[in-house]
Amino acid sequence: MLFECGAAHGAGFTVWLSPADNSSRAFQRGQGFLLGYRGEPPPAALEALRGLATRLRALERTTSAEHWFDLREPARGTVSAALIYGQTRLEMRVTLRCNERCLFCNSSESVENLVASEEEALALLAPARNAGAEMLVLTGGEPLLVPWLPAVAQRARELGFRRITLQTNGVLLAQSKVWERLQQVRPDELLISVHGPTDQIVGEVSGLPGLLEPKQKAIVACVDAGYRVAVSFVLCRQNMTHAAATMDMLATLSAPPQMVAFSCVAPSGAAIAQGRRTIPTMTEAAPQLLSGLQRAEKLGLAPVLVEYCGMPTCISPALRRFCEPFDAEHPLGVPSDKQKLPVCPECAWDHRCSGIFTGYLDLYGVDEFMDAPAAHREVP
Ligand code: SF4
Repeated sequence: MLFECGAAHGAGFTVWLSPADNSSRAFQRGQGFLLGYRGEPPPAALEALRGLATRLRALERTTSAEHWFDLREPARGTVSAALIYGQTRLEMRVTLRCNERCLFCNSSESVENLVASEEEALALLAPARNAGAEMLVLTGGEPLLVPWLPAVAQRARELGFRRITLQTNGVLLAQSKVWERLQQVRPDELLISVHGPTDQIVGEVSGLPGLLEPKQKAIVACVDAGYRVAVSFVLCRQNMTHAAATMDMLATLSAPPQMVAFSCVAPSGAAIAQGRRTIPTMTEAAPQLLSGLQRAEKLGLAPVLVEYCGMPTCISPALRRFCEPFDAEHPLGVPSDKQKLPVCPECAWDHRCSGIFTGYLDLYGVDEFMDAPAAHREVP
């Protein structure tokens, strides 16, 4: 595929996308594609091409790139291995609609785990279960905006899914109709996003004022109603110095969450355009992340560092004791939007690390990983 660009402005260049082969002569590459250019694109165009390659790699994680160049095979309606993350988890994005505007939102039309209708969602469940999925994660957008969510949960239970997790921003739970929908879904676990200790920080990250109080009320109401509630805290440049204070705030709630899941902003979705404004270097972020994890532990909030969107622990081996439990029967491998480095085979954590986002390496390079040889060899 060839795309002629910029000719009208006298700076014409050609962008091409092709199936991957053994050639190394490409500007960017994924497992199944090569992306390159001819001519002399301006720096802004090269930046856009890097962003495009990052998005394509993310798309490869959830769909087979071999179909991109041969559209006779329908990609939808099947359950790719990647859709069942770690082989046991089916993650379904039931809507892109949302009442928040997070800086790092990774929902878009291009994500493969987006289900467009109730029929499509129901049709995915049985094949996923047959392929070994045991957990269903309902995400969005804001999944509680979807009227057919209870039907999907009910069908999943009939098929024997062991656990249903609902990811929500929690803000709409004050509405009786939405609360009732939650009661019908009756998830085993709720993951409620809270990205700061004050309304100002939450607003900077999630795009609107007035979000913190409804989130706090939602946590308390859900815990009081008997739900297992985890808070999702995504560390980014805007909130990273407030990680510990966020834990302090959560601990003061009359019914605090039972767990806090920490992750770091991933170079995908809206965060690509934000770039360095929102994605900090891991070297900058690690002490802040650690201080949030340690404060949460001290306050009894059961912190866990999410593997896929966490931080490689060679940056700070002290992070290792907070990592998600390792499931030797279902290793994650290295997803197509991440990569390992030449130092990784020496690393004591290699077997349980899914690598570094390629988009992150595009942004900041490899130096901070290569400069930590002692950490690579540390025995866990
Ligand atoms: S396997 Fe590689 S990226 Fe992962 S912690 Fe070890 S050195 Fe870092």
